[in-house]
Amino acid sequence: MDALLYIMITLVVFVSMEGVTWLTHKYIMHGLGWYFHEDHHQPGYPHIFEKNDFFFVVFAIPSMLLFYFGTRGEINWMFFVGLGILLYGMGYFLVHDVLIHRRFKWFDKTNNWYFRGLRKAHKIHHKHLGKEEGECFGMLFVPLKYFREAKLSTS
Ligand SMILES: [Zn+2]
Ligand SMILES: [Zn+2]
Ligand SMILES: [Zn+2]
Repeated sequence: MDALLYIMITLVVFVSMEGVTWLTHKYIMHGLGWYFHEDHHQPGYPHIFEKNDFFFVVFAIPSMLLFYFGTRGEINWMFFVGLGILLYGMGYFLVHDVLIHRRFKWFDKTNNWYFRGLRKAHKIHHKHLGKEEGECFGMLFVPLKYFREAKLSTS
């Protein structure tokens, strides 16, 4: 196998993870796993440590297993599946926890329309305090109207 194929695998996994996240958020976090996600929907929650962080652990497990089996002997495709999951997890953390919820004040000054669109959509998600009737479950891709609105407004 060659480098191009490995890059493709990583990219496809990264993009697929947005779909997995959407499904998990809609049907598990707002379903059976609501216990772990509930505090994340409480207004004014300090976000230093949330029960919601449990889901990072859940996604870290397959990633770690893939790194383990993907590096036994020669590096194989499993390593790159694990890498795609890890990169998505990092992207998710930077966008959801840092940029949107400001658990760290790293890049508060971004004015980029893509990030403003994501932030707006997730604010809409948080308007619903309960488990039912949610919207905007995605994280790196949200309904296009939010990007359109962000592009039209200057800040
Ligand atoms: Zn939610
Ligand atoms: Zn939060
Ligand atoms: Zn959130």
